[in-house]
Amino acid sequence: MTALRSRFRWIGQWILPSHPRPRADLTSSLPRDHAHSTDRSSMKQYTQQQILDSFRGATRSEIKKVTFPLDFDDVDFSRLEYYGWRDRKMPRRAYIAVEHDGRLVSLVLNRAEATPSRRTMCTWCRDVDLSEEVVLYTTRRTGAQGRRGDTIGTLVCSGFHCSKHARKLPPAYHKATDLDAIRAEQVAGLRNRVGSFVAEVLSTED
Ligand SMILES: [Zn+2]
Repeated sequence: MTALRSRFRWIGQWILPSHPRPRADLTSSLPRDHAHSTDRSSMKQYTQQQILDSFRGATRSEIKKVTFPLDFDDVDFSRLEYYGWRDRKMPRRAYIAVEHDGRLVSLVLNRAEATPSRRTMCTWCRDVDLSEEVVLYTTRRTGAQGRRGDTIGTLVCSGFHCSKHARKLPPAYHKATDLDAIRAEQVAGLRNRVGSFVAEVLSTED
């Protein structure tokens, strides 16, 4: 949303004053820009090999042991802000694959033994319905800090269905509410928060 807003500001400041028929142009361009921004948010389709090649901060043996879900071929990446899955052969092991700064980045996660004492909101999708169990996942920091054993943790939906939750509409809303805008904002928020997490993990990379 921030990028979208700043783009409109840019149009307002620079194109409007210098073009003779600005208003019609701006109005007609609004829905297209909006749609474009939604498209831009979706992931490209990836193969298992591409994901395996994109791991950062993981050891060779960790990458060798990655098991993908049986339904991997049915995953529609265009509906996701990140792809996350649990390793069906290692109960505490999970992974996420995220597009970050124009390239795919995958991380190994470990589910903490302790579960939150009460129902908690996912820090990424902030699903207010608490419709999915939220657990603490940790990942090793990249670089020397990670090799020393430093980790970063985050409370996230255990089955990584954040993208689905972010597309839900509020249970009650005013007739005039712009539902597409609400959904776009939720999706953008999810994308930003996952992006911040990945950025923090990568910030210590050698
Ligand atoms: Zn979530």
